[in-house]
Formats: sequence, C-alpha cells, structure tokens
Amino acid sequence: MSIQAKLHHLRAIQNLLAPYRYLYCVDLEATCDDVGVNESPRSLVVVPDQMETIEIGLVVIDLESLEIVGEFQRFVRPQIHPTLTDFCKKLTSIQQTDVDSARTYQEVGDELRMFAESYLNAAWASWGDYDARQLERDAAFAGCPSLLEGLPHFNARKWHAGLYDDRPKSLKQTVESLGLVWRGSYHRGIDDARNVASIIKEMLG
Ligand code: AMP
Ligand code: MG
Repeated sequence: MSIQAKLHHLRAIQNLLAPYRYLYCVDLEATCDDVGVNESPRSLVVVPDQMETIEIGLVVIDLESLEIVGEFQRFVRPQIHPTLTDFCKKLTSIQQTDVDSARTYQEVGDELRMFAESYLNAAWASWGDYDARQLERDAAFAGCPSLLEGLPHFNARKWHAGLYDDRPKSLKQTVESLGLVWRGSYHRGIDDARNVASIIKEMLG
C-alpha cells in the first residue's frame, strides 16, 4: 500500500473521531463452550446465540492527548447459563466465583453510566464487530438498554486493516506485529481492552 493511501486512510479515521473528546476501548468476555479434540462428540452447553457477557473491560483514551485517562472493569453475572463451562474458564481465566459475586448486566450498566459521566462526548471502539453484537444480545436477554447505548461504535480491526495491508491477525498477533509488548492475559476483558488501546494509540500517534 502506498504512503499516500495510508495517509488518506489515517485522515479518514481522524475525521471520524474529530467530533469526540474520548474513545472508550472495550473488550467483552462471554459464556461459551467448545468440544475439545480429545472429547467424544456432544452438544454445546452454550450455543453462540445464547452467549452472555461475563466481563467488560473499558479503557478511556483522551483523543486530545492520546493518553489513557480512565479504566472500568466489571465481571457480569450471566442469567441463562450461570455456571461457566470448563472451556470458558480455561479460555478466559475467569472463575466461577468471579461471576457468582458479580452484578447483573443491568446493574453493571448503571455503574458504567455513572463512570461515563466523567468522560462525556465519547465514542467507543473494539477489535471487530463481535463486542457490539454481544451487547445487543445481552440487552435483549435482560430487557434493558444496551451498555454504551447511544454511543457510536467503531471497528478498530477495520482501521488496522486499512492502514496495514496484511492478512487478518488475532488481537495478540496484531499487538506483536506492531512491535508493541502484549500486557496481561489474552482473553481477559480488561487486558484485551488495554491492548486494543495500545494499538489505537499506535495507529493514531
Ligand atoms: P476475546 O475478546 O477474543 O477474548 O473473545 C470474546 C469471547 O468470545 C470469549 O469470552 C468467548 O466467549 C468467545 N471466544 C473467543 N475465542 C473463542 C474460541 N476459540 N472458541 C469459542 N469461543 C471463543
Ligand atoms: Mg477479550
């Protein structure tokens, strides 16, 4: 990709973000299941349509300084499948006690709205479109407004694909391919959100 094409793409991203003071970098973990290679065939305990958020990690970037100015992390208690599968606990390192002692999606939404009052005029971004779809699914299950309702969403993976014309990579591979240091546990909401924030800072900086 030519330097001009990259610059053009960067300007387009900067124009999209120009109306906002803050960008919330968000990553969710959710209930899930998969059948291991050594397991006999069985049906999934959690099918994709029934995934529920169990952790939200959110890192606030001040778009004026490109500094991280806040963080929000909560575990969320799932309602449809309150017991985490072994697969989910292994993937995310989230334990049953973490979600048992957590508040519901609706309660965490109230806490997040209070947190967000300190960072008005915001948009949010995540790595891919999964997180935005997951929040809608949670809201439908809980019969309440979606977390981050009303805030525009941007797909940072698409931004990255436009700036670096390479094959799609996972979040962790992308961090490493940019020469950044991966921090924390992969597939933990707050750590993934911190790493999404480093990618975005690197792209915009
Ligand atoms: P991530 O942000 O990549 O950690 O993934 C978010 C959620 O997607 C996880 O908490 C899981 O519910 C689901 N997920 C991610 N990777 C897998 C996988 N390999 N198999 C099944 N579900 C997954
Ligand atoms: Mg994650």
